[in-house]
Order: sequence, then C-alpha cells, then structure tokens
Amino acid sequence: MLEGLMQDYPLTLHHMLHRMRDVHPDSKLTTLTAQGTRTASFGEICERVDRLARALRALGVADADRVGTFAWNNQRHFELYMAVPCVGAVLHTLNVRLFAEQLVYIIGHAQDRVIFVDDSLVDVLAPIAAQVSCVRNYVVMGDGEIDPQTLAKLPGALSYEHLLEQAGEGPFEYPSVDERQAAALCYTSGTTGNPKGVLYSHRSVCLHSTASLMSDALGLSSTDRALVVVPMFHANAWGIPHAASLCGADLVMPDRFLQAQPLAKLIESERPTIMGCVPTIFADLLRYADQNDVDLSSLTNCACGGSAVPRQLMKDFQQRHGVRIYQAWGMTETSPVATYSRPPAPPEDAEAQAQDDYWDARARQGTPLPWVQMRLVGDNGQQMPFDGLSTGEIEVRGPWIAAAYYNDPTGAEKFDGGWLATGDIACADERASLQITDRAKDVIKSGGEWISSVELENQVMAHPDVIEAAVIAKPDQKWAERPLCCVVLREGSTVSAQQLVEHLRPRVAKWWLPDEFAFIEEVPKTSVGKFDKKVLRARLSEDTLQGRVQVGSEGRV
Ligand code: ADP
Repeated sequence: MLEGLMQDYPLTLHHMLHRMRDVHPDSKLTTLTAQGTRTASFGEICERVDRLARALRALGVADADRVGTFAWNNQRHFELYMAVPCVGAVLHTLNVRLFAEQLVYIIGHAQDRVIFVDDSLVDVLAPIAAQVSCVRNYVVMGDGEIDPQTLAKLPGALSYEHLLEQAGEGPFEYPSVDERQAAALCYTSGTTGNPKGVLYSHRSVCLHSTASLMSDALGLSSTDRALVVVPMFHANAWGIPHAASLCGADLVMPDRFLQAQPLAKLIESERPTIMGCVPTIFADLLRYADQNDVDLSSLTNCACGGSAVPRQLMKDFQQRHGVRIYQAWGMTETSPVATYSRPPAPPEDAEAQAQDDYWDARARQGTPLPWVQMRLVGDNGQQMPFDGLSTGEIEVRGPWIAAAYYNDPTGAEKFDGGWLATGDIACADERASLQITDRAKDVIKSGGEWISSVELENQVMAHPDVIEAAVIAKPDQKWAERPLCCVVLREGSTVSAQQLVEHLRPRVAKWWLPDEFAFIEEVPKTSVGKFDKKVLRARLSEDTLQGRVQVGSEGRV
C-alpha cells in the first residue's frame, strides 16, 4: 500500500473549543432564567470551561471517569459538554424525567463519579442519592449563592460557581485524547428492558456535528441563532450545541421553561432562526402562536423528529407563519441524526406548495446523510428494494452509528454483521428517501396486511378538530388485529367517530379505516415527549381506556 501523506489530525472536541475561542469568540449563548435572560460570549464561556477543567481535576476526575449531568438546556450544561470530554472524561447526560428506579439503575450502571445538578432539580435527585454510592460528589449549579439548605440535600454537595472561582484563571493544559476515546454517554429511554448506554466517541461526535452543518441537513451556519429545545440529555440535543461550537451559530437555551408561552416570548425577544424539538412541542407552540398572534417570523428553518412529523403541522407552520419545518430521523444509537428531509420541490412556488405531492414529500423522513449507509431488511432477512412500496426493517451503518451497548450484552443481536437493526419499519423510494411506516413493536397486521399507524395518525391529525392521534392495534377475532384510534379533540369540538371516518375515507385504503375510536383527554407521553403507545396498549388490555366509541353505533364500547 502507498500510504497517503496527510496529517492524522485527531477529531476531538478540543477542536470545538479552539473554534469557539479563536474563530467565533463573539458568538453568544443566551439562557432563559426566572429573572430574564443571561448571555455570555463563546470567548467568555471558553474561559469558564478552562476553570471547569481545572475544577474537574481538583475533584479527582480522571481519564475515562463518568461525569453525570442532571440539567436542563443552559449555559452551565454547555460548559460541561465541552470541559468533561476535553479533560478525557465521559459526559453522561441523565434524563431528568426518568423514574427514580431507572435513574438509580443508570447511574449505577454508568458508575458516575460526580453529578452536576441544576439547583431547580436538586429535589428530584435528592431522594435517590442514598441509593447511588458510586457518586462521590454532587455539584449544584445555579445563579448567585446556592441556598445552604439546597446544598444540604445532597451528600458532600459543592457549588458550581464556587468551584469555578476557586479554580482560578488562565489557560488549562488539556490532555491529548485519542479520537476513538469515549466522549459522551447517553442511555436510551428503555421502552423495553433496562435502559441501554450508547457511548459516543470524540470522532463520532465530531463527524456527526460536521455533517449536520451541511445545507442538506440542519444547515447551521455562523449567521444562525439556534433555539435548542430538544433536551441536552436526549442524544446530545441532536448535536446542535456541538455543531454551533464549530460554526459559531448563537445558541438560545430555554432551561426549564418549555411551555408554549415562555418559548413564544423567547422566540419574539431572541429572534432565533432555527429551532429543534419533537412534534408535540411544535404543536403546542403552534396552538399558542395562533391564539396569541405570536411573531414567529425569525424562524426560517426548523428541525423536527423523534417521532413522525404530521404533514398538517408542517403545512400550518409554513402557511400561517412562514416557518419551514424539516424532518429528521434517527435514534440515540445513531447520534442521533441519520436521515434528513430537504425535499427538492420548489418551496417558493405557492402553487407547488399547495399540492399534495409537495406535502407528501415533506412528510418523508428524508435521505441518509453522507457516511450513513442504509438498507431495508425483510422478514426473511432478504434486502428489500428501494421502490417506494416494499417495506422492511431499517438497518444502518456509519461512523456515528453505535457498534454495541455500553457494558451490556443484551441487545447484541441488533448489531450483527456491522449493521444496526433499528426496529423501525419503512419503505424508501428510488432516491433512498425514507418513509417510516412504524416501529416494529407498533405495527398493526390486519387480515395479513400491514396498516401503518404512522400514516393513519398523520391523516387523522390533518382533521382540523384533532389535536393528537395515536393508533394502536386492537386484538380482533376475525382480522387478528384492527386499528384503534385514540384522539384528543380541540376543546368544544363535537366531531364524531363517523365524521372522522368520513374524513379518512378519501385518504387511506378502505381496510385501514378504524372501526373504533377512543376519545381521550391526552395521549400519554414518554420522558422525551413522544406518544407512549405502551401505556395506551396497557389501558386497552386492562379495559381502562376511556371514551371508546364504535364507529356507526356512536355508542360506548
Ligand atoms: P426511544 O427509543 O426511547 O424513543 P430515541 O429517542 O432514540 O429513543 O427514539 C428513536 C426512535 O424514534 C426511532 O427508532 C423511531 O422509531 C422514532 N423516530 C425518530 N425520528 C422519527 C421520525 N422523523 N419519524 C418517525 N419516527 C421517528
């Protein structure tokens, strides 16, 4: 082999720090607090990251130690995003919405040595502190002096700002780190079995965030202001903070103020250009913005994913507020962005925008990013063609796709043969544009034929009176399974099951039409804000699902 003569420059997060310090020192990070917003420049943040690095050393954090965070999206969390991997340790972002027993499991499994916790979340963490003996220190993060009573709730708790003050000024000598070294750890929410750890490397984080800068992906640039609503404890907030450090986009972080009203105010005052979050938060924001005449015009390009993005949601945002929402698909195991949907249709042309074709294209999950390879695998292990019709389980491989779970042999079958079996069922067209039909565990098989719950939900949610829709399989003697559609109606709406069926009739195959609806008050959500069909299925089998109505009879089931 004739070896290429190029430098072997390591892909590590140190380069992100360098970009922030030396290329984009004036870019800004703004955090919403109870007292208004607080802003720091990337240059100032780098100085604090140096202090934090020294403080981590003073706490005895060594190479490869796991450092937990229990925090919302805010400046201090971002400082930890940079400092922890750059001292050679592993940033473990804990999902603050998990049940206590899951947190105990995850902290113990990761063997977190230190946990950094927002002062607003101390009361959530304190009750489990006695059960996680691996944690030697807690560091409480907040503005001003932390109330001693708050500190006393956690054993040996220290104040973040005190630590930084004591750490002193000046540059920190960062150790050199191999690009394959672990940088961050994130557990999947574990819809079945125990949560599983995905251990990102410096290299995978660097490559993933570089790819998300592409204009066919998130397209983040130095002129953007990114409102990061997707939690920093959920798959690294989709890599947006890392990507911003590379390109110098400003960051706007909402901390714990995730309701539509504070978000709307933040958008009006900070005028972000990009926002990333799951569909349920976009839907809340849309309702609020419509009712309160909110100016969303600064948002030109938004990223949405985590579950299928309803066509109608994208259409309403675009037509009523001029906001374009693009869909991404991925999972914790894929860093998370694997595909991105930037359809080629001419978006400026109003007529083309009104066409169903255009919205069908917009509702797809998109094409794989460069370096992500994708295939669809059928029931018998055969590869399915990309013909727009054939469905199969999505398998992916690439430099930011997990090769195994951290210290956990269960689930190893997902990684067979160098591909990750994602558990998502989809078809793809001739140009590899993906359309998810279901998660394997959510599929409905009626009379031997698949019904896509994702597509049915999409179509039901296109009804103007429907706020949320989740379709689950109901056991059926004749057909094996039939779709049961759980809907949340707009307040005051009297739309009937029969009317919903009439709405669906021209939109889906006849045998897809649900023969039963459940009118519920809210679709239960997971810790990251997705529809939790597991809970709905449990209610159905325990016969506690409210508001069930048989189509035609309109009587209660
Ligand atoms: P969890 O498994 O706990 O939900 P993830 O956040 O990693 O954790 O979820 C990944 C899953 O979310 C994917 O496997 C897929 O089922 C779903 N998902 C993500 N993005 C989309 C999308 N754009 N459309 C449909 N489903 C999506």
